[in-house]
Amino acid sequence: MRLILLGPPGAGKGTQAERLVARHGIPQLSTGDMLRGAVAEGTAVGKRAKAVMDSGGLVSDDIVNEIVSERIDQPDCERGFILDGFPRTVPQAEALSRMLDGKGMKLDAVIELRVDEDALVERIEKRAAETRAAGREVRADDNADAFRKRLQEYRAKTAPLSEYYAGTGELVTVDGMADIDAVTASIDEIVTSAATNS
Ligand code: AMP
Repeated sequence: MRLILLGPPGAGKGTQAERLVARHGIPQLSTGDMLRGAVAEGTAVGKRAKAVMDSGGLVSDDIVNEIVSERIDQPDCERGFILDGFPRTVPQAEALSRMLDGKGMKLDAVIELRVDEDALVERIEKRAAETRAAGREVRADDNADAFRKRLQEYRAKTAPLSEYYAGTGELVTVDGMADIDAVTASIDEIVTSAATNS
């Protein structure tokens, strides 16, 4: 099962991806997590990505395309994977399509979480407060300024992916404002139907 989760920052992609991992035993490939890992380890990629990530901008397509391509080749991706935070631009989606073709793989579904953007700033502030209360470190880009920039980047560069995947016939949308369990149930339905059709 190869899935893409689409939606703006704070839409709940990470939470839903974690549930899919637990239920279907396939890994979540979050380019944000991979990049934060590279920053923490101080790798060459991490050094190039850090400043742009902290400000809420997008890391270059070349960097993310390469880390995804390498990650997909790992043995734990043989049965499938959930892409969370990638692709984020139409050129990344085109690169992904070429990449999967080259590896003899195909996507099963692209699931978009549709949310009310006004509610997102509130969600992100809540996420930061909960993380702080749990004694964990808050992401450098989980603050109002960086979040607004991430949302702007989303509108300008990522939102066009809905149209792109509607065009390929792979897009399915889910109401991301419903409660978390209801969103999970809708996603499960999509995944079950994609599995029967594949
Ligand atoms: P996320 O955890 O998905 O919100 O990603 C955090 C940050 O990592 C983003 O604001 C970007 O700076 C960077 N990033 C993650 N995925 C991508 C991607 N596919 N393309 C470009 N930048 C990305």
